[in-house]
Amino acid sequence: MKICIILLTLQIVITTNIFLVSTSTVKTGAGAGHKLLLVSFDGFRWDYSQRTPDLEAFKYLRENGVVAEYMKPVFPSQTSPNHFSIATGLYTESHGVVHNCNYNISDGPPISSFYSALAVNEWWDNGGEPIWITAVNQGLRSGGYLFPGSFANISGVSATKKILETFATPSEESDWMKRIDETMEWFTKDGLDMIALYFEQPDVESHDKGPDSEVIAEIMMPLLNRTILYLLKKVEEYNLIDDLNIIITSDHGFTAIDTSVKGDDAISIARYVNQSYVDFQFSYGPLGLVEPIPGTAKYVKNKLQEGNQNMKVYLKEELPERFHYKNNDRITSIVILAEPGYDVYPIFPLFHINAGDHGYDNDLQDMRTSYFSIGPSFKKNYTVAGFENVHIYPLMCHLLGLAPAPNNGSLDVLLPTLRSKSGGNVCSNLFIVFASTLIGIVSRSI
Ligand SMILES: [Zn+2]
Repeated sequence: MKICIILLTLQIVITTNIFLVSTSTVKTGAGAGHKLLLVSFDGFRWDYSQRTPDLEAFKYLRENGVVAEYMKPVFPSQTSPNHFSIATGLYTESHGVVHNCNYNISDGPPISSFYSALAVNEWWDNGGEPIWITAVNQGLRSGGYLFPGSFANISGVSATKKILETFATPSEESDWMKRIDETMEWFTKDGLDMIALYFEQPDVESHDKGPDSEVIAEIMMPLLNRTILYLLKKVEEYNLIDDLNIIITSDHGFTAIDTSVKGDDAISIARYVNQSYVDFQFSYGPLGLVEPIPGTAKYVKNKLQEGNQNMKVYLKEELPERFHYKNNDRITSIVILAEPGYDVYPIFPLFHINAGDHGYDNDLQDMRTSYFSIGPSFKKNYTVAGFENVHIYPLMCHLLGLAPAPNNGSLDVLLPTLRSKSGGNVCSNLFIVFASTLIGIVSRSI
């Protein structure tokens, strides 16, 4: 039986760009000695798993582990900012990965994409400490398998093993199975203690077909179901059932885009403000970043807002505190945020690229995402209320017995999802039930 000693939660304020940060000092986590697998399915909206109610993997996770009513993303509800908040426990303004694409305001519009930015080290090495670095710094071995940000060196430290996602990364179902196979090898042959593993769906299909498409319920959720069952089967085959905690989560949800929107309903920045007033401009989904020429910020902001009511235009200092998207030099002086169903374009669009999108206000229900956890340290058949994704990092540190780096999360939020530190015999019995049930369900499904 593992003994958990939680010493003290300190509220501290860190200088530089880390704000309202807390840190917990943990001597020995509840799961110390267990390995940890963090899995992300990109764009796995909070209610997607309920679209197809009979899928065995989700039923199994609910009955034998922990499920959250939902998980709230950070702002903006984009992929890279949220994966790095999950990994670091920091809000966007504090970890500095403020966008999917890397840019420098003084260099003009970025020549970057989500994929190319994954390889730009300085975009990620900006003050935050992800879990795979915390692990290595404290003597554990960690891995990043396509997980956004996990390829970067942070203050000269790297995950023990890592694979970078690129535009050409194979993404067939057989490739997904290979990722799981290699992850199991990393745990067992390479002796890794913690791995962050990434899958690119259902994000791609949600963009292409929209979140309400039958493709989600009929193709994507069965794919995730098969993938999770395959993972559980491999955990059993590699004798990791008693030794591996698994968190299955995601970065953001999705909302539908009205692709028939035409005329003045389409947000197009160049229609509203003379471009001679603009030094830097970058439109991406519902987010528009604008740096006006010096001394014109209020004028440009007002012209933009007068131009279209399907968006909110903020001066940087007016951005709501709850966005935690203000105190960072990478954020422009003006931020445009489209209303749900709209995207921001630099010029009037000839067509709408996406039938579904994310990046919106993180308070929107549609932006909420999924969270499950299962393993020897987690309760069974337990539902936790909705929570912000910054609380996963302190939980992961606790599970691995690591002292967390300064972060915005609190261990108190997810501590109730863990089994009691007392009752060792009960835990042993549960392991047996877990293993027996798992073997049963896998033998029926694979
Ligand atoms: Zn994403």
